[in-house]
Amino acid sequence: MTRIKEAAPRHRLDIGDPDLPPPPEFVEALRKVDDFWYGPAEGLPEFREVVASLFGVEPSEVAAVAGGRHGLAALMWAFRRRRLLTPSPYYPGYFEIAEVFGLRLGLVETDGGWMPSFTERGVYVVNYPNNPTGVVLPRWKVRELVDVAEFVISDEIYRDIVFGEFTSPMELNSSVAVVYSFSKVLSVPGLRLGAVVAPRELVKEVVKFNKATVNVPPTPVQRAVASVADILPRRRAEVSEAYRRRTELASSMLKLEFVRPGGAFYVFPRVGDDVRCFEAALAAGVSLLPGSLYGDHRHVRLALVEDEERLKEAFTAVNAACGGSR
Ligand code: PMP
Repeated sequence: MTRIKEAAPRHRLDIGDPDLPPPPEFVEALRKVDDFWYGPAEGLPEFREVVASLFGVEPSEVAAVAGGRHGLAALMWAFRRRRLLTPSPYYPGYFEIAEVFGLRLGLVETDGGWMPSFTERGVYVVNYPNNPTGVVLPRWKVRELVDVAEFVISDEIYRDIVFGEFTSPMELNSSVAVVYSFSKVLSVPGLRLGAVVAPRELVKEVVKFNKATVNVPPTPVQRAVASVADILPRRRAEVSEAYRRRTELASSMLKLEFVRPGGAFYVFPRVGDDVRCFEAALAAGVSLLPGSLYGDHRHVRLALVEDEERLKEAFTAVNAACGGSR
């Protein structure tokens, strides 16, 4: 990050900060909120109801959390005495959380298409659509996961950004907790609001974790989300289409090999030496992130968080800096 700041590149494709503006209806709803009280640690009733109906569960199976990351911390803490496993490459946040709790997080290997082999028993932390690769598991693979897992913590913060089919492990098994967030779908990562959808007993643990940490996830944001729940289906379609087009553009322009994403807004091309590509791209005016941060030094991650015209310029620079022949 220091290197990126010093270089002040023209294109910032490093952090996954969505560039699409938040929906105006939501911004308006947030402006109108005039009640800033604490509220309940499990979340406001109207917020839990909205999330429950999105997932087809009961409100008692929902807890508000202060962003997806907070929900992940709550769940990893709840399973602190169990064997935790996650596929590689991984979202580095899982290791940051594991570290502060003194937990070990085992890695699961993936194949050339980023498909993990789920063979070991344990509590899996999985993330589909995936950061950094963008891949989504086919339904049969999700079946394999729930069959072998003791429990699944399913990080679905990109579940609203999908280009085709997406199966949540929750559809196939009840031993699953979903971590959901409004950061990416509404382009509001600074507002820190998410939800955990889980069996009731586990929701109680998450609420205990809330009480010990933020106590109450931001109530003004919960109110605003609850009041514009009806715009979510349209928003989901809009953001999926926008990021799908950018991913297509990456596929047609980048002279680097990568597995076609099924969602989210990242591509994870193979470059051989991630740090060399990072430096060369930075010198050419584009910041991207070395795959080592995600446990894989042969790849780099590009976050597609600029409009198509700007991305074209950035891809041309990346091709010159890191490209070879496809
Ligand atoms: N999980 C994954 C895979 C992510 O990429 C992110 C954010 N980049 C998060 C969780 C956390 O998101 P937030 O806390 O903003 O909901």
